[in-house]
Amino acid sequence: MTEQTNEQTTEQGSGILAGRTILVAGVTLDTSIGFAVAKFAQEQGATVLISNFGQALRITRRIARRLPVEPPVLELDVTDPEHLASLPEAVREHLGADAVLHGVVHSIAYGNPETLLGGKFLDGPWKDVAQALEVSAYSLKSLAVAARPLMVPGSSVVGLTFDATVAWPVYDWMGVAKAGLESCARYRARDLGAEGIRVNLVSAGPLRTLAAKAIPGFEDLESLWTTRAPLGWDNTDQEPTARAVCALLSDLFPATTGEVVHVDGGFHAMGA
Ligand code: NAP
Repeated sequence: MTEQTNEQTTEQGSGILAGRTILVAGVTLDTSIGFAVAKFAQEQGATVLISNFGQALRITRRIARRLPVEPPVLELDVTDPEHLASLPEAVREHLGADAVLHGVVHSIAYGNPETLLGGKFLDGPWKDVAQALEVSAYSLKSLAVAARPLMVPGSSVVGLTFDATVAWPVYDWMGVAKAGLESCARYRARDLGAEGIRVNLVSAGPLRTLAAKAIPGFEDLESLWTTRAPLGWDNTDQEPTARAVCALLSDLFPATTGEVVHVDGGFHAMGA
C-alpha cells in the first residue's frame, strides 16, 4: 500500500503545487516578487503562466527564459477591459480547451512616484490617486473576475501588500491604495467563498524591486527593518515572500481566506 502511494506521488511529480496551474500577473525583471513566485511554484511542481503589459512585455519575455521552465507570457493590462475579457481564451490557447487555473497571483501596483510618493501626501492629485487605486487595488477584483471562469473549488487567489494598517514614511498614497487592496481581498474572499475559492494576501517587508526603487526615500523605509525585525530582513531576497505565496496557493491552507500573512521578519509585531 505504501509502495503504491509512493509510486503515484512520483508519477504525478512532487512538491506542494504538483499538478496545479498558476497564473502570476506582474513579472517584469528577475527581481520582481512575481518572478520569485513563478520560480518557486515551478520548483514545487506547478505549471506556470506569467503576464505583464505594455512596453515591458518585451523584457518579460526575455526574463521568462531565466525560469527553470520557460512559461507562456500573456499580455494583461489589468485596467484594459479587452485584455481582462480575453484572459480565459488566452490561457486556453496555451493550455487547451479544458484549462483550469488553480492559482492566480496579483503582484501588481503602480502609483506615480513624482506626485504620490516620497512625502507628497497633501499634494497628490486625484487623477493620479485614481490611477493608483485602479491599478493597485481595484485590479484585484478585475483579475479575480476575469480568471473566474477558469477557477475551480480549491483555487486560490493571492496578492501582495505592504502593511496598510499603519501610516509609513514616504509610502503616502500607495499606502491608501494598499488599504483598498486589503479591503478588496476581504470582500472577494466573502464573495468567492461559496465557490470554494480562497483570497489571501502576503504582506512583505521592503524588497529592492523596480517598483520599490522608484519610491523616493525608499531607503529610509527599509532602514527601519535593520533594527526592528526580530528575525532580521534581507531586502534582496524575494524567496521567503514567494514561499508564503506558494503555500497560500497550495492546499496547505484549505480553511484560510480573507487573511493577510506577514512575511517581514516579524517587524509588524514589534512596538519599537
Ligand atoms: P515590480 O517588479 O515592479 O512588479 C510590479 C508589477 O506590476 C510590474 O510587473 C508592473 O509592470 C506591473 N504593473 C503595473 N501596472 C500594471 C497594469 N496596469 N497591468 C498589469 N501589470 C501592471 O515590483 P514588486 O515589488 O515585485 O511588486 C509586486 C507587488 O508586491 C506589488 O503589489 C507591490 O506593491 C508589492 N509589494 C512590494 C514590496 C517591495 O518592497 N518591493 C513590499 C510589499 C509588497 P511594469 O514594470 O511594466 O510597470
